[in-house]
Amino acid sequence: MSDLPVVVVGAGPVGLAAAAELVERGLRPLVLEKAAQAGAAVAEWHHVRLFSPWSELVDPAAHRLLAGTGWRRPADAGYPTGAEWASEYLRPLADALGERVRYDTEVVGVARRGRDRIVDAGRDTEPLTVHVRRADGSEERLTARAVIDASGTWGTPNPLGGDGLPALGETAAADRISYRVPDLTDETVLARYAGRHVVVAGSGHSALTALVAFAELAPTTRVTWLLRRGAVGSTFGGGDADQLPARGALGTRAEAAVDAGRVTVVTGFRTERVEGRELVSDKGDRVSDVDETVVLTGFRPDLSWLSELRLDLDATLQAPVALAPLIDPNVHSCGTVYPHGVTELSHPEPNVFLAGMKSYGRAPTFLAMTGYEQVRSIAAALAGDRESAERVELVLPETGVCGGAGVFDEPAAAQGGCCAPAEPQALTVQR
Ligand SMILES: Cc1cc2nc3c(=O)[nH]c(=O)nc-3n(C[C@H](O)[C@H](O)[C@H](O)COP(=O)(O)OP(=O)(O)OC[C@H]3O[C@@H](n4cnc5c(N)ncnc54)[C@H](O)[C@@H]3O)c2cc1C
Repeated sequence: MSDLPVVVVGAGPVGLAAAAELVERGLRPLVLEKAAQAGAAVAEWHHVRLFSPWSELVDPAAHRLLAGTGWRRPADAGYPTGAEWASEYLRPLADALGERVRYDTEVVGVARRGRDRIVDAGRDTEPLTVHVRRADGSEERLTARAVIDASGTWGTPNPLGGDGLPALGETAAADRISYRVPDLTDETVLARYAGRHVVVAGSGHSALTALVAFAELAPTTRVTWLLRRGAVGSTFGGGDADQLPARGALGTRAEAAVDAGRVTVVTGFRTERVEGRELVSDKGDRVSDVDETVVLTGFRPDLSWLSELRLDLDATLQAPVALAPLIDPNVHSCGTVYPHGVTELSHPEPNVFLAGMKSYGRAPTFLAMTGYEQVRSIAAALAGDRESAERVELVLPETGVCGGAGVFDEPAAAQGGCCAPAEPQALTVQR
């Protein structure tokens, strides 16, 4: 099997980093990307400025690969937009990987060769088969020694419905609902929202980003913020205690917009129905005269094409079972995620890994640097360097949020008290 490639699904930041790490280890990656170019998901949120500086957005092995190509590394302290992350780093990296990246190639299934998930025999000895469909409709089965699924979750946003299913009428109202942070610098997009009553649903960083943008259009544009949880609680994040200052500042700006009365907050609203221009909660509460709804309620992984593999996924988060307790917003008391690698990301199915955004399942707060460390560890393990694979090499920035993320009615319920605002701590990558 050592002659076979390691198939990496997705040419996003983590898939490309995986390829760079594998190349450095002398292994053969084959990155399969469904879009026509690298960084396709990131390019869709081109207008959003990241809260991570460049220093945390470039994978170390990718940097070393790019260094030999004449690539100019952007200044560490700058904060790129999605468009800049894609054009100044991801696409040059994909170019440097050359023919190891195939575009217009969607992975539609992965299985153990000749075996569905029920068959025991040969799971350790047979390679994996990767079924792909190209943009021209042609299909192929590729053989792989390992598969790293770094396909992200961008394509499967959560719906508006408070129970995780589309609200009644949500699909029918599709022309007045968006699941993306709007780019208000685009005239057409601005014309859609300006002067209307816009409802933003969700409590993560994307929702905060949208609120800050819409608040600039108030009061001529009416902005209502729908929260499922019973109180705003820690939704604005850690502010000054956040070790990523730009992430903390985003929450502070959103809070200021609410305090200034530019955003109306509705808490404890679990949307059950969309009735014409009204949103109706499961308790019968109504938000009326709604022109547009922007649903930013997080993402979920698409596991449909992994059905023939034996994955060990947490029943709550759909993340690898050993990773889930580290990232579960129901129980996790610091909003900060501990570094983890191949040990937490392994499954009963040998040599199959979920990495990057997809590895978090439904959990929030994924950082690219977490994904880079995941794939460094996986590549080390595949190269037989178990010692390096198991070494924790990253300290992640504290969010400064204590008491859990408060996913439901009682934001304080998960108070764990483990993160007294810490002294800002330098990010360290030990190599
Ligand atoms: C608006 C926004 C802002 C963010 N800001 C930050 C930040 O400031 N700092 C930070 O560290 N992180 C941030 N993140 C989180 C995270 O780092 C990014 O989402 C990052 O893009 C995740 O990388 P990924 O490679 O796991 O997935 P993605 O970037 O989603 O890449 C997945 C790739 O896989 C491809 N693909 C999907 N399905 C298939 C398939 N079946 N076959 C083949 N290809 C497929 C997609 O086309 C895509 O190119 C942000 C996320 C969002 C949405």
